[in-house]
Amino acid sequence: MIKQNLLKELRLIVGKENVLSSPEDLVCYSYDAAPLPADNLPDAVVLPSSTEEAVNLLHLAKARGIKVVPRGSGTNLSGGTIPIEGGIIIQLTRMSRILEIDSHNLTATVEPGVITRTLHSAVEQVGLFYPPDPASANVSTIGGNVAECAGGLRGLKYGTTKDYVIGLETVLASGEVLVTGGKTVKNVAGYDLTKLMIGSEGTLGIFTKIILRLIPLPETKKTLLILYPNFQAAASSVSEIIANRILPTTLEFLDKVTINCVEAHTHIGLPRNAEAILLIEVDGSKWDVEREAEKVVEICSRHQPLEVKLALTPSEAMSLTLARRSALASLSRVRPTTILEDVTVPPSRLTEMIIEIKRIVQRQDIQVGIFGHAGDGNLHPTFLTNERDEAEMKRVEAAIREVFEVTLKLEGTISGEHGIGLTKARFLPWQVKPLGLKVMKIIKEGFDPENILNPGKIFTGYSP
Ligand SMILES: Cc1cc2nc3c(=O)[nH]c(=O)nc-3n(C[C@H](O)[C@H](O)[C@H](O)COP(=O)(O)OP(=O)(O)OC[C@H]3O[C@@H](n4cnc5c(N)ncnc54)[C@H](O)[C@@H]3O)c2cc1C
Repeated sequence: MIKQNLLKELRLIVGKENVLSSPEDLVCYSYDAAPLPADNLPDAVVLPSSTEEAVNLLHLAKARGIKVVPRGSGTNLSGGTIPIEGGIIIQLTRMSRILEIDSHNLTATVEPGVITRTLHSAVEQVGLFYPPDPASANVSTIGGNVAECAGGLRGLKYGTTKDYVIGLETVLASGEVLVTGGKTVKNVAGYDLTKLMIGSEGTLGIFTKIILRLIPLPETKKTLLILYPNFQAAASSVSEIIANRILPTTLEFLDKVTINCVEAHTHIGLPRNAEAILLIEVDGSKWDVEREAEKVVEICSRHQPLEVKLALTPSEAMSLTLARRSALASLSRVRPTTILEDVTVPPSRLTEMIIEIKRIVQRQDIQVGIFGHAGDGNLHPTFLTNERDEAEMKRVEAAIREVFEVTLKLEGTISGEHGIGLTKARFLPWQVKPLGLKVMKIIKEGFDPENILNPGKIFTGYSP
């Protein structure tokens, strides 16, 4: 149990009401969206409201040798906020101001606790656009997005979070404040420390200010939902769309298991005989959008779809995207335990990857729904299981290992957007090899020699 005098010191920094230490509160911060047991309680949760308070917290943590876990909304899927060595959780949701939207330089400067969707709405009101759009955007924070390098539904055309973060203010484990980058798109003054911080999963520092690049809001968009009798036809449509030099904003895939779960959950009228669905969105000028939508319909129609649905109004578009946005929630209702994977292959290997996943799960006799960002090769095979069934869990674990092996064989990555956290730490060496791991550990040691920040994440059994 945390010592009373330490609680007192924390209260002096952030105020009494911003330190949580009751058993009920601590349980709420012992888990996140990853399917891991809530076995590790933090000693306290503190909610700073400024960089200065975050600095003071880090000074205190360093002086007392206390571990620190930064946290946004806790929606990460890799166990990134689980306090496996106790210590304090620094909850950043009180730092939630949009400090500036600069229409002259096309930037937004925000605090880390701003909710992703809040930023979308704020910049769209002035005709600007922040493209990264994780499916969790209604809940996730920008700080969490930067720490995980979140991707999402618009990655194919617009890239991911790393393509929009151009400046950071970061409190280091030492309590020092590192300012990197700025408002300029071009900046090659030394190593690119801003990019190094993106995707660092709370292990290198705590972001307290973030400068984001914005782009003009596209004039219009069109949304299509295409239903196929087999997944090969859907996958071939994806390759052909890209080969025709069309980059849809969104190009999402749902397999039959996912379609059936979504329909059972949402009753939006998806045909249960469909083996695959593509959700496609094109955006840009009116002229481009008309032309691209026509071309997409033409390409998809060549692969004998069951149906092509084109949204005619914004509310129809919303209901078509609901199928994709509710995929994870719908799958989660089927069995007690849901394990969402995040493998990514070059888009041209998508069909092979889906065939391999289906072969693996059939052989291991387990239930899996596959959906994901087909356009950028990012698939989320979602294992529907029960952690209390030991025999089945062994088969699920074996299947996941096989899926990673195949991913790497197909020149892919074991994580496209959800990070390594706790859940994939043991697999990281498979991909980055001993030298990659060595360099990463040198970086971690350079920033945080006493391993104060988010211990146990990314590296297995790491202690300096
Ligand atoms: C239903 C659902 C759908 C999702 N869809 C997507 C998707 O489409 N694409 C995608 O990429 N992800 C997706 N995710 C995963 C998740 O939403 C993202 O990883 C998101 O970026 C996490 O943000 P958060 O605020 O919840 O961060 P948290 O989960 O609180 O933290 C994530 C990591 O960031 C660190 N961290 C948080 N704030 C800071 C900070 N200020 N400074 C330094 N480190 C910090 C934490 O220590 C942790 O390691 C989804 C999750 C769910 C539950």
